[in-house]
Amino acid sequence: MQNVGMQLHYIANTSQPASDGRTIAVIDPATGQAYDEIQRGTAQDIDQAVRAARKCYDSTWRKLSAAERGRLLMRWSNKVAEHAEELAAIEQRDCGKPTKQARADAAALVRYFEYYAGAADKLHGETIPYMDGYSVLTWREAHGVTGHIVPWNYPMQIFGRCVGAALAAGNVCVVKPSEDACLSLLRVVELAAEVGFPPGAINIVTGYGHEVGDALAHHPGIEHISFTGSPTVGTLIAQAAALRHCPVTLELGGKSPQIIFEDADLDAAMPMVIGAIVQNAGQTCSAGSRILVQQSIYEPLLERLGKLFTALRVGPPTMDLDAGPLIRASQQQRVRGFLADAKAAGVTVAAQGRVADEASPDGFYQAPTLLRDVPADHRVAQEEVFGPVLSAMSFTDEDHAVALANGTHFGLVAGVWTRDGGRQFRMAKRVRSGQVFINNYGAGGGVELPFGGVKSSGYGREKGFEALLGFTTLKTVAIRHG
Ligand code: NAD
Repeated sequence: MQNVGMQLHYIANTSQPASDGRTIAVIDPATGQAYDEIQRGTAQDIDQAVRAARKCYDSTWRKLSAAERGRLLMRWSNKVAEHAEELAAIEQRDCGKPTKQARADAAALVRYFEYYAGAADKLHGETIPYMDGYSVLTWREAHGVTGHIVPWNYPMQIFGRCVGAALAAGNVCVVKPSEDACLSLLRVVELAAEVGFPPGAINIVTGYGHEVGDALAHHPGIEHISFTGSPTVGTLIAQAAALRHCPVTLELGGKSPQIIFEDADLDAAMPMVIGAIVQNAGQTCSAGSRILVQQSIYEPLLERLGKLFTALRVGPPTMDLDAGPLIRASQQQRVRGFLADAKAAGVTVAAQGRVADEASPDGFYQAPTLLRDVPADHRVAQEEVFGPVLSAMSFTDEDHAVALANGTHFGLVAGVWTRDGGRQFRMAKRVRSGQVFINNYGAGGGVELPFGGVKSSGYGREKGFEALLGFTTLKTVAIRHG
């Protein structure tokens, strides 16, 4: 059981304090009160974790067969499933998640480990027909020691997808979770040790991004970096990695559009449009934060959507409402800043949900807000709010819809709602994003579905089998045998 009172780094299967003994308070977003402490790691701690990972890789991990790695992951998956309620409760308090969301995150972690357990021994190279007298083959080799920088919005899910895939592909891991939410991961790695992962295979160093995150990104012993977070920090990570030509996967933000044509099945669309912006209080990289509606149905649709928004309630995570609080005070101020800017520009609030009476005034709550007729170039329609704020605007035809959809710096996900089969394909081809969903959105998370972006949403792919390719490097072996 996790020790509430002082959380330690997890290096080589042992818990240990930061090298200089400093800590960071853990704040409950539902009350604004501190209830625990994590280690404020140092560059020295990162170095120790990288050395432990290297030792594990050289002495044990690289010698395990793919099937053995898969079996370990499967045992971890089963162990996490046994502890799902405990983990969901930790995540709920740390992140302020409603019960159903915290449980869904634990279930996703189970599924990521299960998926990558099964995939570990299905990853292989090819033989290539070449000149007479030669045999040429390719090997998919692990990078070795991989670094993982994880944000606070879905710690378990994002840890599952990058660490699960990295281990399956034969790598060992040093993880820097967010200083705002890392408690579940410190418990998950204890479970890894219990099922037999060797010391050093998975290490966690907690602390601030500009300190330990930066140290991890610059460490010469890190041979691949998987980063999920903001575009600004993604640039810093890519710059640090470029200094030593280290490969990077960047999963950054989004400003994903829901594009609703006049022939759409609105009964199917409405709950998904709402869910895509309210889930996790809008703190989701793939949040559907813009709704583009064909002019002919704009007014009736907004009226209908407005009624649904008005019924939304946010409140204490254990009340299991539509959303809980935002992660921290600065995030709440950020969201309010966007709304104030929109108001100053004359943007109309079409509807707003409400914060439950039971919510603490010191919690970081934000009522879901629907904005209408948002100018396409306003910052609330261009930048990632990372809160429950949906910007509505209208379009005339397909060309106009495509121009609006592609008219931001981002390109992560898009939803297209239409019954017209030809239009479904045309839109899927013309929208610039890593994923397109037709008459659905998010496909329930889909651990099997490659995920990532274009433009400022990043590059490389996590999730699915595709992620395994990124966690390997390809070696070509040419043999001249005559
Ligand atoms: P963030 O970029 O501030 O932090 C992400 C991680 O990077 C944290 O662990 C943080 O400690 C670390 N970090 C911060 N500064 C660093 C530095 N100088 N060097 C190294 N590491 C550093 O983002 P956030 O506030 O934690 O998360 C919100 C952002 O993440 C949003 O933009 C969101 O869209 C994005 N996000 C993207 C995805 C995706 O898969 N595309 C998923 C979740 C979140």
